[in-house]
Formats: sequence, structure tokens, C-alpha cells
Amino acid sequence: MNRAARAIIDSSALTANLLAARKCSGGARVMAVIKANAYGHGIVATAAALRDADAFGVARMEEAAAIRDARIEGRIVLLEGVFHSEQVPTAAAMGVELVVHSPEQIEILEQCGRDHRFRVWLKIDTGMNRLGFPPESAQEVARRLLGCPSVLGPLHLMTHLAKADEMADQMTGRQIECFDAAIDGIGGERSIANSAGLLGWPASHRDWVRPGIMLYGISPFADSSGSDLGLRPAMTLSSELIAVHSVAAGSTVGYGGAWTAPADTRVGVAAIGYGDGYTRHLGNGTPVLVNGRPASVVGRISMDLVTIDLQDSPDARVGDEVVLWGRGLPVERLAIAAGTIPYELVCGVTQRVAMTVV
Ligand SMILES: *Cc1c(COP(=O)(O)O)cnc(C)c1O
Repeated sequence: MNRAARAIIDSSALTANLLAARKCSGGARVMAVIKANAYGHGIVATAAALRDADAFGVARMEEAAAIRDARIEGRIVLLEGVFHSEQVPTAAAMGVELVVHSPEQIEILEQCGRDHRFRVWLKIDTGMNRLGFPPESAQEVARRLLGCPSVLGPLHLMTHLAKADEMADQMTGRQIECFDAAIDGIGGERSIANSAGLLGWPASHRDWVRPGIMLYGISPFADSSGSDLGLRPAMTLSSELIAVHSVAAGSTVGYGGAWTAPADTRVGVAAIGYGDGYTRHLGNGTPVLVNGRPASVVGRISMDLVTIDLQDSPDARVGDEVVLWGRGLPVERLAIAAGTIPYELVCGVTQRVAMTVV
């Protein structure tokens, strides 16, 4: 190990969060969503820790291939289906299940005749206006799909919620009603809920829930953190101090001289920066933990380095641990400071950060 910046992935937290999702879902089956390299946590290690899920949800063929290459069996749902007909043979060979959200994808299935067989998840657009068939076409699309020799019946039926993290909003209720009306009479298992639906909207649970963010111990709601919901953070991003020095009162630190020392100050330099995914949208005042004690960032975040005010850690020295988020410091808090959502922070951890699975 020659890199200081690392992400520790706690596989027992992943497993515990899956159990929490199951407990909350009232007996629904759980599709563990592990797209985007399992939200930055490493798809293979995450899939292994979440082996007990009833299926995995991924966005890309490469993600399905990574799971199969690691010899992890189990159902895989391609959440956006295939993008091109050339992907069909590989998808079939991997035994993945396809979301079908567009007329083009129906044509692809019609063209493959009896060569391949797929379980299909028919996606209805109930208001997100992103992917899916209009509700009024659901019955006709279902008939057309069931007429394809390549489609194994019965269909699975799904939709996606746009505002389930906003508990006071009417939209989720309207989306659920719209979904029910659209698919009335079509046989097959139903799925509506993402993490926010699972945690906040029991009426959305149905046959399958599709949690993503909560499995990583992160809250989908802006006003809570995972631990408030009984979840455990799965990723801790950390590095170490590679220099400690004093800065005289009135001197500035870092690019642009964005921070001026109000008094003589000990400043630590940790080996992590935006090149690791510790975004430059954080900055002055961002909380960090130095040897488990609260401290804060001073000045701008550089590509490889971040500078930290050590006034509350007088004993800190080179080699000491700095936690940027995770254990003891919810990534939800950092997301607010960065003006983004925790999803983007964990997904943004870059390749050069060493991943350690414990
Ligand atoms: C990403 C995704 C999810 C998971 O959403 P979270 O908010 O992370 O729980 C569920 N369903 C679909 C279709 C998705 O794309």
C-alpha cells in the first residue's frame, strides 16, 4: 500500500443495510441497485456483500459483465435495457433481464425472433418524463411484448418516482395512482420504490423494491443522515497528513490565497484532493476528522492536497489519519456543504483512490 488516499468499504455495513431494507419493505423482494460501480463502492465487492439480494440492478452491460466475471450468480436487471441490437446476444448469454422503456427496444426484441429469451420489465412513465411508455399505451405495449417469442411471460411492471424524497409533496401519490390505473389487469410482479419510496412511502412497496443509496448507509432525504434511519455508512474516505507547519497571522494558504490565518496557526496538509473525488466545491470550513477529532479545511482544495486547521489537534503529526467522510462524518453533511447530493460525492471517488474491503 503506497497510496495514502483510500476508501475503506465495510462489507458488514452493506449486508446490514440490505437487511434493514428487507425489514422495512414488508416482504417485498429486493433488487439491490449497484450501478455506477455500486455508487463508487466497487461493484464486485458490493455484489459479493449483497449476495442475498433477490436481484441486482445495473445500468450498463459492462456492469453486468463485471458481476458475471466474478462468478456471482443471481438475477441481474439492466435498468435501461439494451441500447443497440448488437448487445442482445451478450445480454442473453449473461442471462440478464431487460427493462423495456421505448418502442425501439420492442423492435429489437421482435427482431430477435426465437434466438434469445429474456425476462422483461416493462417501464411506465408516470410523471418523471425521462424513460418509459406513456400510461395510456401500457395495455397495448404489454400485449405486443407478450406476443414476442423472445419475451418470457409474465411481464414485470415498473415505474420510477421523481420526488419520493419530498414527504410533503403530492406527486408520489399521483404517480402510484397513475401506475395502478395504467397496468390494471396486466398480470405480473410490480415495482415502484427506490430508497426514498421504500423508507417513506409504504404504498409504493408492492412485489419488488429497488433500493440503491440506502444500501450504502446514506439517507435519500435531505434532512436526515443514514444513521438517523438505522443505516451504517459503507464507505469511509480517508488519507493522511504528509506535512504539518505553522502559518503566521496574516499569511494566506493555498491557491488564490483564499484563507488568511487570523492568528499564528498550525496547518496540516493531507494527501487527497479533487483528483481523488474530494470535490473543489468543498472548501474553507468543511469538516474533517483528524485522528477522530473534528477539524476543518482551510483554503481551496487542490488536485492532490487539502489544507487543514489543526488548532484543535495540537498533537497531530505527519502520518496521522484524516477522515474526509464516512465513519463519524456523514457524507450527507459534506454534500450540503458542496451544494450537491451524497450520491454524486460517493460516485465521484476516482480510480487512483485505493479501495480496501473489510
Ligand atoms: C438508481 C435507481 C434506483 C435506486 O435509487 P436510490 O435513490 O439510489 O435508491 C431505483 N430504480 C431505478 C430505475 C434506478 O435507476
